[in-house]
Amino acid sequence: MKTLKVSAVLPILLAVCSLCAVRAQAQATSNSGSASGPITKGKVFNFEKITDGVYYATATGAMITGSNDVVIVNDNDVLLVDAGITPAVARALVQDVKLLTAKPVRWLVNTHFHYDHTDGNSIFGPEVQIIGHEYVRQAILNLDVLHREPFKTTQTNLPNLIESLKQQVSAEKDSQRRATLQARLAATEAEQRQFADIKPVPPTLTYTSSMTLNRGAREIRFLFLGRGHTPGDTVVFLPKERIVCTGDLMESQLAYMGDAIFDEWVTTLDALKKLDFDTVLPGHGVPFHEKSLITAYQSYLKDLTAQVAKLRAQGLTADEAAQKVDLTSHKADFPQITGPGADLRGVRRMYAWMDERTSKQ
Ligand SMILES: [Zn+2]
Repeated sequence: MKTLKVSAVLPILLAVCSLCAVRAQAQATSNSGSASGPITKGKVFNFEKITDGVYYATATGAMITGSNDVVIVNDNDVLLVDAGITPAVARALVQDVKLLTAKPVRWLVNTHFHYDHTDGNSIFGPEVQIIGHEYVRQAILNLDVLHREPFKTTQTNLPNLIESLKQQVSAEKDSQRRATLQARLAATEAEQRQFADIKPVPPTLTYTSSMTLNRGAREIRFLFLGRGHTPGDTVVFLPKERIVCTGDLMESQLAYMGDAIFDEWVTTLDALKKLDFDTVLPGHGVPFHEKSLITAYQSYLKDLTAQVAKLRAQGLTADEAAQKVDLTSHKADFPQITGPGADLRGVRRMYAWMDERTSKQ
């Protein structure tokens, strides 16, 4: 077997696989006890109560879950916002939701097409409507999602990640830290096995600009506010509860940018800020309340775009630009930023997007 030095592998993994980094951080954050509402602890998901019948679901660490999800309990049924990274995770979510309510899951929303939000779709039978923007349906049907980013890098990196975790386990002297690493290793190995069961399934109920679902006293709006993180992001808005579920259009941390439409993302976030809400439940990270964090993310996107445009004009390649950009001035809002550089797949996407725009002019 190939041996890899942990110290050499880890930075590469983190640089190449921003989703891995993101989810490791999300897990760390969700375990840090920053939650404000009461928590119901399940086997695979912890549920933070946001208000009556609305729960924010994050990983316990027993499995790698992908997205953070939202559970909305209506008068007679349950709606889920995203359902995780594999069929096994979605099954675990449905099982853990039984700790909250005996009502059946009848609705699932895909906030966007990325695998860590949609690959649980296949476990749901015809009694569950899967809601998504029409783009999500087309993407899952036509984009060969299991052979493209962001799934590709995650899948390709799993053997290295597992190898590196094994080495960390054997090098760790502290028994508690060793147990944590061992649990992460087991979860990652299970994830690799579960990837074999993935069968991309598109939404069954689609819309293009907005749609409202009334379930008893609950009003749930599905809004397409414009392109951004992907060409078809859905924002789930509960107007009475003043809660908005944003998927990866707005996280509490830096989002993956490999399918971004950068300028429209900034405009779409303007539209998001105009909604009347107090609480944001994002697809990764932690719930937050401040609209100023959205403004901070807009400013990160604008700064990155301006810096990359400059470096591209100077003749640098995308890979060179990804190392050279310096977003450290945004560190206070996004502590993920630890030094110069940005996610390579995001910067490559930005070059492609700039190329498209140049050829249109
Ligand atoms: Zn995403």
